[in-house]
Amino acid sequence: MISLLEARALIWDKTPSLSPHTEPLAEAYGRILREDVHTTDDLPAFDRAAMDGYAINCDDGSARFRIVGEIQPGSTPEFKIGVGECARIFTGARLPKGASQVLMQEDAKVEDNFVTPVQRTCTTYIRYKGEDARSGDLLLTAGTMLGQGELALLAAIGITEPMVSPQIRVAHLVTGNELIAPEQTPLLGQIRDSNSTLVAAFVRQNNGSLVKQERLPDDFNLLLNKARSCDGDYDLLLVSGGASVGDYDFGNRLLSALGYGIHFQKVDLRPGKPLIFATRGSKTAFVLPGNPVSHFVTLHVEVRLALEKLTGAKASWPMLKVRLMEGFYHRSSKRDNFLPAQLIAKNGEVTVRALRWKSSGDVTGLAGANALLHMTGETESPKAGDIIPTLLLGAL
Ligand code: AMP
Ligand code: MG
Repeated sequence: MISLLEARALIWDKTPSLSPHTEPLAEAYGRILREDVHTTDDLPAFDRAAMDGYAINCDDGSARFRIVGEIQPGSTPEFKIGVGECARIFTGARLPKGASQVLMQEDAKVEDNFVTPVQRTCTTYIRYKGEDARSGDLLLTAGTMLGQGELALLAAIGITEPMVSPQIRVAHLVTGNELIAPEQTPLLGQIRDSNSTLVAAFVRQNNGSLVKQERLPDDFNLLLNKARSCDGDYDLLLVSGGASVGDYDFGNRLLSALGYGIHFQKVDLRPGKPLIFATRGSKTAFVLPGNPVSHFVTLHVEVRLALEKLTGAKASWPMLKVRLMEGFYHRSSKRDNFLPAQLIAKNGEVTVRALRWKSSGDVTGLAGANALLHMTGETESPKAGDIIPTLLLGAL
């Protein structure tokens, strides 16, 4: 058995990265940038008005200024501002020659064709050429996730087909004689398969797309044939259930028969001890313990790291120290424990509460989970107000 730290190091080390390709901006949301991006222009590219008002020379102490023209955003002023002159100007418009200040229209009295400043300040109300970034500046680095702000920046500098990671093609085989589809009514001894839905949502949130998802009985040959039939179609194979050592836990045999090299099979983690991680060339595989909470935890603390490596993202481990809202019963253990939890922002403070579950088979405690409490060492039932390391489940 290896520690979580060792398991994460192996996952990061052994998982390959997918080859990048270019993607139009409209399709690039959430993808991982695979190139450093420099601007080839100054931002802004020209001195421009930051306010609606009147363009004047800030050294011109005239009592009033004759309006000699109007400049709208997008136009190029051909005229020059002389002494005692100004131009009507709007936010974003290019400053005319001779002007070095925008007099805000709130500070101007206009009569006939003349502007009288109500007050003069030293503020120029100009966004200067290159004040945001200079031509050649590095603006985004490889490994950055393209969110709204990053996409807007790429658009502003004219990079319309950035080099990004492709979506990860994920095949998911769900094993268990007891499993039925969620829309079916279980007979005695059967349970609805909730892991398929959980994994589908997880994959979608982490730059993956499911190329196959199938529920199968605990039948080794069937499982092997299914895995072989989609072998050329996926980058990541996830198998739910069968990670342990029971008579019908076929995970290990399956991956070996498929030619995978197995890197570990057990992690000193609770819940989620049985977890098989393997690679074969450009392919990566995990066999996950079937219990829903174990599934949830291993997906977030281990499988997610493989997805990050596949996409060329930076490894994220957003661990915060957060005050506990209410105490809860917890049996101390030397293992790394991760408990589904909810971060709550209230009255200007973020606190966290453990979600209730008795066994890793309970599914109710997953609803509302946006974090995992990290309990280590001998900590017995923590109290309200205790500070607990808390792993955020979203990106930071
Ligand atoms: P396993 O890892 O296959 O030994 O399964 C451990 C426990 O998780 C058993 O109680 C299973 O019934 C349950 N389980 C396995 N797969 C699923 C699934 N897809 N959805 C919900 N529970 C499952
Ligand atoms: Mg099973």
